Amino acid sequence: MKSLWSDADAESHVARYASQGVNRDLALRVYTTRLLGGDPKLVLHGGGNTSCKTTVTDLLGETVEVLCVKGSGWDMGDIEPAGLPAVRLAPLQKLRRLAALADEDMVDFQRGNLLNSASPNPSVETLLHAFLPHKFIDHTHSTAVLSLTDQPDGDALCRELFGAKMGYVPYIMPGFALAKAAAEVYEQDPTVEGLILFKHGIFTFGDTARQAYDRMIAMVTLAEQRLERGRKPLIAATTGLPKTPAPLAEVAPLLRGLLAQDLGDGAHRRWVMDFRTSPAIRAYVDGAEVARYSQQGVVTPDHTIRTKNWPVVLPAPEASKLEEWTIAASAAIDGFISRYHAYFARNNQRLGGVKTELDPMPRVALVPGLGLFGIGASAKDAAIAADIAVNTVECIADAEAVGSFQPVAEDHLFDLEYWSLEQAKLGKGAEKPFARQVVVVTGGGSGIGAATAKAFARDGAEVAVLDLDPEAAKAAAKACGGKALAVGCDVTDPDAVRAAFDAVAECFGGVDIVVSNAGAAWQGAVGVVDDAVLRRSFELNFFAHQSVAQNAVRVMTAQGTGGALLFNTSKQAVNPGRNFGPYGLPKAASLFLMKQYALDHGKDGIRSNAVNADRIRSGLLTTEMIASRSKARGLTEKDYMAGNLLGLEVSAEDVADAFVWLARSNKVTACTVTVDGGNIEASLR
Ligand code: ZN
Repeated sequence: MKSLWSDADAESHVARYASQGVNRDLALRVYTTRLLGGDPKLVLHGGGNTSCKTTVTDLLGETVEVLCVKGSGWDMGDIEPAGLPAVRLAPLQKLRRLAALADEDMVDFQRGNLLNSASPNPSVETLLHAFLPHKFIDHTHSTAVLSLTDQPDGDALCRELFGAKMGYVPYIMPGFALAKAAAEVYEQDPTVEGLILFKHGIFTFGDTARQAYDRMIAMVTLAEQRLERGRKPLIAATTGLPKTPAPLAEVAPLLRGLLAQDLGDGAHRRWVMDFRTSPAIRAYVDGAEVARYSQQGVVTPDHTIRTKNWPVVLPAPEASKLEEWTIAASAAIDGFISRYHAYFARNNQRLGGVKTELDPMPRVALVPGLGLFGIGASAKDAAIAADIAVNTVECIADAEAVGSFQPVAEDHLFDLEYWSLEQAKLGKGAEKPFARQVVVVTGGGSGIGAATAKAFARDGAEVAVLDLDPEAAKAAAKACGGKALAVGCDVTDPDAVRAAFDAVAECFGGVDIVVSNAGAAWQGAVGVVDDAVLRRSFELNFFAHQSVAQNAVRVMTAQGTGGALLFNTSKQAVNPGRNFGPYGLPKAASLFLMKQYALDHGKDGIRSNAVNADRIRSGLLTTEMIASRSKARGLTEKDYMAGNLLGLEVSAEDVADAFVWLARSNKVTACTVTVDGGNIEASLR
């Protein structure tokens, strides 16, 4: 592993933070914490922490010795000084006198000694940092180190490799007991440069930020070099892999459907998925012994809260045999759930039945012939599970290359998974109404489409923005925040629509709600209009809706968990405007298309509804159209736009809210909601 230390970068951190009143120690602590946190082979999603011991001046002007230690909720890769809250050091050190300390008391005591009461909770490994004397302490869950410690003879392997340079700490769950044990190991030989925590990770320390960091790099490099010696590759499976694997875009919705839970009354608890593959992942999932090495447990215990202890191993999907695959995959998932229930019951009994079982669904699925899926309640959580799974693949493959992978025993994994301080890392709070749902919006790059994409994202949905203009799609997706997907797509090209839906399924696992919004207005008196104009309008304002809806139904029926189709029709579909036949005729057909989908696919749990909007500034009306129409009517633009029964201008956001309402209303189908401020000629029954 290469050291990324640079004197120039270090000094620029010192200079930059000095202007914010941050001292040199903390500035350098921020710098090397970022170096460590930027490498997934060292630190991944909250695994790892750092500290430095320094002094600060409190409100009374007194100099206080503090431990600045990583606060929970901060990512080491982009940490700021606020992410390393200062805790009074002397009281922390005094805790060592105690024989035992309850976790909640430890957290409370640490909080009580923060200099700034608004700081995040100091790391659960704070006391380990406090009980060691060194100025700078670095802790990572290095993949290479874990590959060596996670072995039946990992202890001997590490002692032989690192020798007297490191101290060796047996596996103990993080907290007070581990902090005491680590300090005792250090004190037996204060010349050590760090500690190996078996089946957990590595600590290095030093007088300077650079020394602690350099020692981390040196030790990890030793581990990497050891892994290069006498390697044996994973044995590839010789049977069971398909000649023609089914495409990801077809497999993902089937799997997503199998994972979903029917909550009744038309509601489903769904999952979002994140697919990964590479030659290394394929070698792992296609391995002859994948059922053994993938099922031993996580490489370091705190991964369990993100990935559960083991992934579900699914059968390999053959292109022409997806029905059989679905049955076999369903059985594999049922097997996973039963195993999880048994694991919970067994370990909860050991603890006297005090725990409440968490949901038993897998967070990682291995699919031979294809790759792996991270599974989560959001695209973000799915990505975290997938990142950890990819890291696990490397760690276990390396462990198997030099021996055989064996992590900490099940009871320790359970204790960590059900540890209140670990669960607290996941955060609580009610989910937003569209959490776990994937929404596709066509014509989502601007106007009503962009407002609708944003409204669904605001309410927790994963959003895919389709637009003819890929740049507009990107901008609108960016405005949605999170992991919104942008796809450039001409919806009048059925192949492009199919490809766009495949891209969405590949990105999130499937589709639940589709807002078919793309449209454009053509004009012309119907008696003289050019046939080509009418046909072009039908392509976009009718056939594109059909093509979008057909693809939506294809994915939704594969999932088998219903779905919602939403069409943007128009006042023209109900109340024709003079010389607007080319626009109104296909829109009227689309209104009936909505009804036909409701009729034909209600049995599949797919609802079909429409919003009938009129006179939206950022909709189809261009600035020039608004100007000419208001002029023709002798009105100001404002009076023209608000020319409805309520005398109120209707915005794209008002239309978006109607789409959101329809998507939420599990018992509404074949319905058109009018959003136009009141136009009696265009009103429906
Ligand atoms: Zn750790």
